[in-house]
Parts: sequence; structure tokens; C-alpha cells
Amino acid sequence: MDKEQIWQAVLGEVEIGLSRVNFITWFKDTFISSFENDKVVIGVPSEFVKKWLENKFYKIIKSSLEKIAGQKIAEIYYQVEFKKPETVKVNGGEKNDAKRSIKEEPIKTAEVPSINRFGLNSKYLFENFIVGKANELAHAACRAVINNPGKVYNPLFIYGGVGLGKTHLLQAIGNELSNHTNKILYTTSENFTNNYVQAVKTGHGKDFKNVYRGVDLLLIDDVQFMGGKDGTQEEFFHTFNELHQSNKQIVMTSDRPPKSIPAIENRLISRFESGMVVDVGKPDIETKMAILEKKAIEKGYSFDREILVYVANNIQNNIRELEGALNKIVAYHEFNNAAPSVKSVKEILSDLTIESRSKSISPKDIIEIVAKFYNISSKEITSNSRRQELVVPRQIAVYLIREELNTSYPTIGNELGGRDHTTAMHAYNKINNQKQKNERLNQEINSIKQLFYSSIY
Ligand code: ADP
Ligand code: MG
Repeated sequence: MDKEQIWQAVLGEVEIGLSRVNFITWFKDTFISSFENDKVVIGVPSEFVKKWLENKFYKIIKSSLEKIAGQKIAEIYYQVEFKKPETVKVNGGEKNDAKRSIKEEPIKTAEVPSINRFGLNSKYLFENFIVGKANELAHAACRAVINNPGKVYNPLFIYGGVGLGKTHLLQAIGNELSNHTNKILYTTSENFTNNYVQAVKTGHGKDFKNVYRGVDLLLIDDVQFMGGKDGTQEEFFHTFNELHQSNKQIVMTSDRPPKSIPAIENRLISRFESGMVVDVGKPDIETKMAILEKKAIEKGYSFDREILVYVANNIQNNIRELEGALNKIVAYHEFNNAAPSVKSVKEILSDLTIESRSKSISPKDIIEIVAKFYNISSKEITSNSRRQELVVPRQIAVYLIREELNTSYPTIGNELGGRDHTTAMHAYNKINNQKQKNERLNQEINSIKQLFYSSIY
């Protein structure tokens, strides 16, 4: 085996124990730079990765190396360096430019989005983010952060429904600032939690702290998943304070505003709200048209305006769906070697558009999604328990089934564990009333709706 093969095999082993994002974050662009006797030098793309590999992955790397190379390894060094150009293939040919600059984007293969060394997807940029009424404030806040990181809006908290561009904006900040610093960390709150739990378990709590508290820019995606995770919240609270005190920029996203995150500590809510809180909403028709036009051009197509209008009018919920619809049309075009008519677009998209929406979702789906939202199980929702934390989700499930599917009260009662139809009716009325007075409840219901719109497909 040569160095390359050994390293690939080591990565194969390491990957088993890690989430995909995590793996890519720490191991992308690493390689064995030299392997002599029992000394190995591993090339890594940044100081930051170097530290993390030395501290956190030392044992696993060493043991995998020994196993795969079939010998004892006495020393492992990590060194910031980049692969020699001749090993990088472009379009099947060799890239010979020996002066290939370090800053150059990783080589892209056709469709695979390229994740850079900060775990950022390099396709999420400001230049391909379309600004409209629903996201202009969020966009402006992000630009302000870029111009003045750590100073103007710290933290910046972006919230909104699924598929509306939160991750895009968050990563665009990272991509933009990566020209100025390499101490950037992008992670999801789930990943943060997993890393933290893992670090504590393996006695690396301190390394974890050092890594997260040593950054210039911390980007945390989907922070709502910290709800209910006390240990993680505690750790994040301290990370947050430390970064904030030293004017390091923090940006977070969430599917709902800070106050609506269930089971989150008040001190975190107040931290989240202490900078700038902005939302992204559903795009209006003009924005949807602009997005469709731009994305079609990016793919090398241009479609009749009529077609784009049909898509913009019929895809209601989010931009991810809009992209999905466009991809289908492009696929049709490629397959038939001709642009589709409006009539065929209607057919192609028949499973995505509004008319078909209510057909594809069942009361069970709604119960499941409500349960997921509140971090409980469907079984608990349909159970007999009167525990307060189950009663409200149960009533909300009733409300949403009635609202969305127009299901009869007896059927709803039945779906909810064999309850009486009057109970279902009562629950519906109760939520319907409270919703008008209680903004938080209203928000929660909207967030849940977003969840099931996005889960239909
Ligand atoms: P969220 O994180 O809010 O669920 P994403 O950021 O993942 O949503 O966005 C979903 C998809 O829609 C991504 O491919 C993203 O690039 C695209 N997208 C979202 N908003 C815009 C926008 N304003 N302009 C262009 N593309 C967008
Ligand atoms: Mg996202």
C-alpha cells in the first residue's frame, strides 16, 4: 500500500465513529505527507484542524494507522500543508500549475457540492442569494456582520421556516469571512451536542472547550435542537459568554424565535435576544420568479416566463421546494431534449403543487410532526396521560388535523387514541381561541405547519 491508500483506509475507519459533517469538517484535505520508518507526518489544511486532530483524534488515528500499516507508529506530526498539485486531477487530466495558490477553491466535481475546510458548502454565497421583501432584513443584518464582525449585531439570530435560506445566509457569512480568518467554526446544534457528549465521555471536555472558545466566528445552525438538552445548554452558555466577551462573532439560526424554543433556559433566551433577531419569511411571487430565473440560468436553461409563473404561483412554501420543482423541469427537458409546455409542467409538478398537498398528509403524519416538534413521542400524544406537557401538544394536533385536513371530530378523536368527539371539538376551540391571544402559541403552530409542509415530499 502506498501513503495514499493507507490514509484512505485510516479515514474509512475514523469515519465510522463520526457524523458526516463532523468527519468532513476535520478530515477534508488531510493526507499523509510522509511516512518514514515509524514516523508519520500528516498534512492538514489549517492550524485549527491540526489542533483538533492532535487533541481529539490522536488515539484513533494512531491505532488505525498501526492496524492498517501493520506496524508500530512511534510519532505522528501534523503539519499545515497542501497536497502537491500533481496529485490533484482536474477533468481527468493533470493540473500542472505548481504555483496553485493555497486559497484556491477545492477542485469541484460536477454535481457534488464542495464542503470546504470549515464545513461550509461553497455554493452558499451572497452573490447567489436573491433578496426580496421577506429576507431583506436578514440579508442586511448578515452584511452588517460581515462588515463589522463581533461589533454590530452580536449575536445575530436568524429564524424562519424550513427551506427559506437560513443555512444559506449563515454559511455565506462563513464563506465571506473565511478570507479574513481561518478560525471559523460552522456546526449544527445537534453536532455541537454530539461532539460535546462525546468529548465529555472520552475525557476531552477541555479540548472541546478550547476549540469552540478559540474561534473568531461561531456559526450554529438549527439551534432549536438544544431545547431539552441541559448539559449542552450549560456548555453553550459558557462558550457563548466567552466568545461574546471577547467580541467574537456568533451567528445562529433556528426555525423559531428564541422565546418559542421549547425547554430552553431563560438565560440562553436572553443571550440569544441580546444582539439582533431577524426572521426570514416565505418569498413573494417576484422573489420566487427571480430565484427561478437565476437558478435556471445557473443550470444553463431558460424557460418561458409562463412556465416560471406557473411554478412560482404553485409552489407555496419554500425555496427548497422551488429548487426541487425546477430540477424536475430541467430533468424533463434533458430527457426529452425539448422545453416542456405549461401543460407538461403541470403534470411534472402534480405531486408538488398545492392542489395535491392535502392528499398526501394524514392525521398520523400531523401527530408525528407535532410530537417531534415538542420532543415527545406520538404514543405519548395519543396516550391517556394528562401530564401538562402532553396536553397542549395533543390539543394542537387536534387543531392542526382539523384545520389542515378538515377531518371530522369523531375521526380526530379516534386518531388521538380513541377519544370522544366532544373532547376533540373542545381541544380545537381551545387552541383556536388561545391562538389569537397568545403570540407564542401562534408562532409554534406556524413553525409546526412549516415542518409538515416540508416533510410531505
Ligand atoms: P433553511 O436553512 O432555512 O432550511 P436553506 O438555507 O437550506 O434553508 O435553503 C434551501 C435552499 O434554497 C438552498 O439550496 C438555498 O441555496 C436556496 N435558497 C434559499 N433562499 C434563497 C435565496 N434567497 N436565493 C437563492 N437561493 C435560496
Ligand atoms: Mg437549514
